[in-house]
Amino acid sequence: MAETSNPSEIAREVLRRLAMRRTPPTPDNYLALYHEIAGTQVREKFPEQALKSLAAALPRANQEQLRFVRQIENAVGEKSWDGLKTALVDMLVKNSGEPPNWSGLLRDLLTQIETRHGGLTQAKKREALDHVLTASGTAEILYTRLQALLRNWSHATPSDEAPSSIGSVAGETESAALSSPGSPSAGSADLRELMAKLLEDTITILLVDTPDLAAEASEIAQAIRGAQTPVAFDKAVVRLRKLSYRLQYVAEDQAELKTGLLQLLQLIIENISGLVDDQWLHNQIEVVLKLFDQPLNLRRLDDVERRLKEVIYKQSHLKHHLDEAKDRLKALLATFIDRLTDFTASTGDYHDKIETCVSKISQAKDIAELGDVLDEVMRETRGIQINVQRSREELIEMRRRFEEAEAEIARLQSELAEAGEIICHDTLTGALNRKGMDEALDREVGRAQRRGSALSLAMLDIDNFKKLNDTLGHQAGDEALVHLAQVVRETLRPQDVLARYGGEEFVVLMPDTELEDGISVMARLQRALTKRFFLHNNEKLLITFSAGVAELAEQEPPVDGLKRADAAMYLAKRAGKNRVVAA
Ligand code: GH3
Ligand code: MG
Ligand code: MG
Repeated sequence: MAETSNPSEIAREVLRRLAMRRTPPTPDNYLALYHEIAGTQVREKFPEQALKSLAAALPRANQEQLRFVRQIENAVGEKSWDGLKTALVDMLVKNSGEPPNWSGLLRDLLTQIETRHGGLTQAKKREALDHVLTASGTAEILYTRLQALLRNWSHATPSDEAPSSIGSVAGETESAALSSPGSPSAGSADLRELMAKLLEDTITILLVDTPDLAAEASEIAQAIRGAQTPVAFDKAVVRLRKLSYRLQYVAEDQAELKTGLLQLLQLIIENISGLVDDQWLHNQIEVVLKLFDQPLNLRRLDDVERRLKEVIYKQSHLKHHLDEAKDRLKALLATFIDRLTDFTASTGDYHDKIETCVSKISQAKDIAELGDVLDEVMRETRGIQINVQRSREELIEMRRRFEEAEAEIARLQSELAEAGEIICHDTLTGALNRKGMDEALDREVGRAQRRGSALSLAMLDIDNFKKLNDTLGHQAGDEALVHLAQVVRETLRPQDVLARYGGEEFVVLMPDTELEDGISVMARLQRALTKRFFLHNNEKLLITFSAGVAELAEQEPPVDGLKRADAAMYLAKRAGKNRVVAA
């Protein structure tokens, strides 16, 4: 609708129409009408204000959210639709799977430590944090426990002096959340020490693969420790914030790496399973594969490693033995075919020669000539006789060697069976065998001594097992043992260890467990067995056991602890079975 091209006329016309239409003369309305009258293209306006207020309303409760808000703010600042798109897509992709967000956690932790909560003194928080830091074994456990601690703190009512510190409100800056002026953080040596400890003892461990970041974490720890003024502390916090950004990427990488490695391992194990015929190996591999279905922890990984080593050991033994047997068989066959060829050739020769002699005999004109032919027949026959005799001897020798090979294979097989002793798991129940138990016991005793934590041992023996065997058969007895082991595994914690001590006797190692708790664990197992019946030929059978529990005393040799548990178990038997007695 180009009525005029003179800008001042257009401007006048715009004002006239605004008045006519009773449209408020805002810059936007003016601009739109101006373009309408001039017949020019209205440039689409970037809704900066609207997006800014939207960004201001976004939550900033943790590092992740803060990063997202920052990304949005930058995109709005640059009036970039592409930037907005990237930020939104990134955020949605991140939220589809959640690697541990250490940076967010650290930030929240700092905020919560600084927040004053009614009834929660900083000394109490320090103590709780200290406890979590020393008692959490793996990064995952530490992460979960720190999260739980945070939840605990943030549910406590903030005291009046610092009402806004839980989480962050829109518009609050990150630095304000980390160290608000006048907060006691800069002056609190204890808290600084804790932060430094967290950085040095935990974060650096998580950063072993990125030494530069680990070094930065150590340096920040020292800076925090040495910060005497709020300014120095704030400086350290700025560095910490930068580190936490980078830490987030490291955490994401590590989570991906872990998943990738696990998948690779699983693939390899599945392939091994396809390659072997041995039933024992299949069973072991199945156990290993089952372990992958559960959340992984260090003990479980340890178990997988042990089992895999056994698989590899037994496989190499089998392969060696198989290769040798094959070589022998090949050599025997080759000799046999050689002999057979020789023999056929020589008998074929003999037949030809005899045929010639026969025709010579029929054509012989005199006795002398006949005599010569007969001599020849005798010579050939003797030759073939020698040949036959030699072949026979060789066949006998071959048979002897074959028998020798057979004996050798038998010897190898029994050796293989003996080698079973170096294997750590009981083939029937999948529990550790005696050797495996001794190793686990050494490991757990060492761990308990290092940490100053308790370790309890339980000795349990199935009640009236002989009767079960006698009435239902040995096979049913075996199945009952497998059932018990299965229920134990399902009932106990992953870190508890089950070993088959002998026949129908089992030992359970319970790390971090005092006597009272050990007894409760056994009682829980008894209850579990009353719920999980053993099914034999569709008949529900109740399996019970008697148990003795001992808590290993400081410096007590594990054998003595086992003896005490065993003695207590016998007391349980004598007291009427199906009960648990403390040593
Ligand atoms: P108590 O209640 O006093 O413990 O009596 P019990 O019958 O359970 O104990 P006893 O020691 O008299 O018998 C244990 C039986 O366990 C004897 C043995 O044949 C059987 N047994 C040991 N190992 C195995 C095994 O691997 N499979 C099966 N089926 N039976 C086993
Ligand atoms: Mg027994
Ligand atoms: Mg028994």
